[in-house]
This record gives sequence, structure tokens and C-alpha cells, in this order.
Amino acid sequence: MTHLRTEKNETGRKGLVFSIQRYSIHDGPGIRTTVFFKGCPLRCKWCSNPESLNPYPEIMVREAKCNGCGKCLEICSREAIVLNNDSVHVDRSKCNLCMKCVDVCLPSAIEITGRYMNVEEVVDECSKDELFYRNSGGGVTLSGGEPLYQPEFALNLLRTCKEKGLSTAIDTSGYISWKVLDKVLHCTDLVLYDIKHIDSEMHYRGTGIKNDLILKNLKQVVDIKLARVWIRIPIIPNFNDSEQYIEKLAAFISEMPVEKISLLGYHEWGKPKYEFLGRDYPLNGSASLSQERLQSLSDIMQSKGLEVTVGY
Ligand code: SF4
Ligand code: SF4
Repeated sequence: MTHLRTEKNETGRKGLVFSIQRYSIHDGPGIRTTVFFKGCPLRCKWCSNPESLNPYPEIMVREAKCNGCGKCLEICSREAIVLNNDSVHVDRSKCNLCMKCVDVCLPSAIEITGRYMNVEEVVDECSKDELFYRNSGGGVTLSGGEPLYQPEFALNLLRTCKEKGLSTAIDTSGYISWKVLDKVLHCTDLVLYDIKHIDSEMHYRGTGIKNDLILKNLKQVVDIKLARVWIRIPIIPNFNDSEQYIEKLAAFISEMPVEKISLLGYHEWGKPKYEFLGRDYPLNGSASLSQERLQSLSDIMQSKGLEVTVGY
């Protein structure tokens, strides 16, 4: 495996993936395989996949797995690793991501996240469950991170899946040029389009970017009618979970011919991964959203005639 973060991918035949999840049932209809791309232009404070953010391979350190053997210390030429009471610490300001420590760590206390894969490798993996897709109406979903942050790789993957007769979906923030999105829509059956907030200033506060391009693209995606559209909305306490906002959001979505809406309640399941990556958790202290609360917000949307599902 090549570990270098500088690996070039000019042709789009190779891309950076951090996970491929088989038998996925929440990323579109039927049984699916979800391919998680690494790299995202947004920085949502509630992100539960922090390993998806940076567009290069990284190390994740699980201190509890360390047996104190010291092999990583010996091999690290940057003196970036310290052992305290058989517990490993990496000074990431010294680390150059050479990944040598990953190779010598037998209990996998230090692991790599992010792997460069060929289009063919990914499609071969996805094709293993072709029969399940056919029987369940499922297929392949590209997610992330932001799958369209690696546009050529995503396009090649989608086109190859279509050539093989596999149904395709993308889960996108919509923060991408229309030129790319237009090409993608020609080889995508379903778009899972995320709406974080319809107010641009609030969107900026939650994600670090404004939403103008995202909402403009959404309108074009539904108008062009090349793919089915489902809307996904993360519901975050004190950000977009008030009844008044949900009413406004429902009115906004009602004007568009989208098939359905998924409300995804905030949870803290991704919190340990921030620690493994040596980062602070951005929403420390926020409580998860209860099932009852989520259901009551869903009821508001349903009362406006929208088809809504809830989940986490
Ligand atoms: S990845 Fe970082 S910590 Fe590990 S050996 Fe290389 S420089 Fe050292
Ligand atoms: S190689 Fe792995 S198990 Fe050994 S000290 Fe380093 S992190 Fe711990």
C-alpha cells in the first residue's frame, strides 16, 4: 500500500477512500454498498466522521490498544512519538505522515485512515453484492466526506457502476461547481442532498461556509430532473431544531419536487474518533437529540404534506 499523502491522481482513476461499507441500508433504497471518500470542503461542527475531512491519509491512535512495545518509537525518525506508562502519544506537529509506525504496530494501536484505490478495485468490491442490489432495489452510494471533492474519481466510479448495470447514488453537500454536478447527474440515479441550514449566516456558523452555491445547485438539481432527489437534514440542538425553523424549512422544501426527507438527529457516536485523531470535539457539552424530539419535528414536516423519515 502507498502511504504518501502526496500521491498524485491526475487521471481520476485513483481516489482516496476511508471506508467501504457493505449491507448499508440508510444511504438510499434497498441494500447498498457505501463508499466513503476522504476530503471535504465543509467543517460541520457536528461531523461524526472526522476522519473524512482532510484529503490525505492520516494516522489514528488508539491509546487503549497500545502494549508499550516501543517499536513505533524506534522507527520514527521525527521523534514524534512518546510512551508514557505504556500509553502512546504522537506529537502531530512533528509527524510527516510517513506511516512507518503503522507498519510496525502489531496491536494496531496506530492505524492509517484513507487508502488510495483504483476505480476497478472499488467497483469489484461493490460488485460482490450485485445479487443483493438486484433483489432489494439497492446499489452503490458514494458518500464521505464529500464525494465530489474528488470529482474525476467520483465520475469514473459512477460511470463504471452504470456500465455494469449497478444503480448509483451520491450523498452530497452540494458545495461543488454546477459543471461537475451536471456531469455527475448524468450517471446518478439518486441524489441524497444535504441541507444544513437555509439561512446563509447560520450555515456559515455551523459549517464554515455560506450556503448560496448549495441552494442554487439544489434548485438546478431538482429542475433538471436527471436523478431522483432525497433531502437529508442533520438536526442539531440550538442550530436548526426549533419548531419555527422547521416550519420555514418545510415551506422551502414543499416548493420542490423531492421524493422524501430524512431528519438525522445529532448524536455523539463519532466523539472517540476526534481523540484518535488528536483533535478537540467541536460540540462538547451538546446533548444528543431524543427520538421524541426528532419525531415531533418530523410531524411538523409531515403536516405540510412531506414524506419524512427519522434516524441517526
Ligand atoms: S507517521 Fe508520524 S509518528 Fe509515525 S513514524 Fe511517521 S513521522 Fe513518526
Ligand atoms: S508499536 Fe504500537 S503497541 Fe508498540 S508502543 Fe507503538 S503504539 Fe504501542
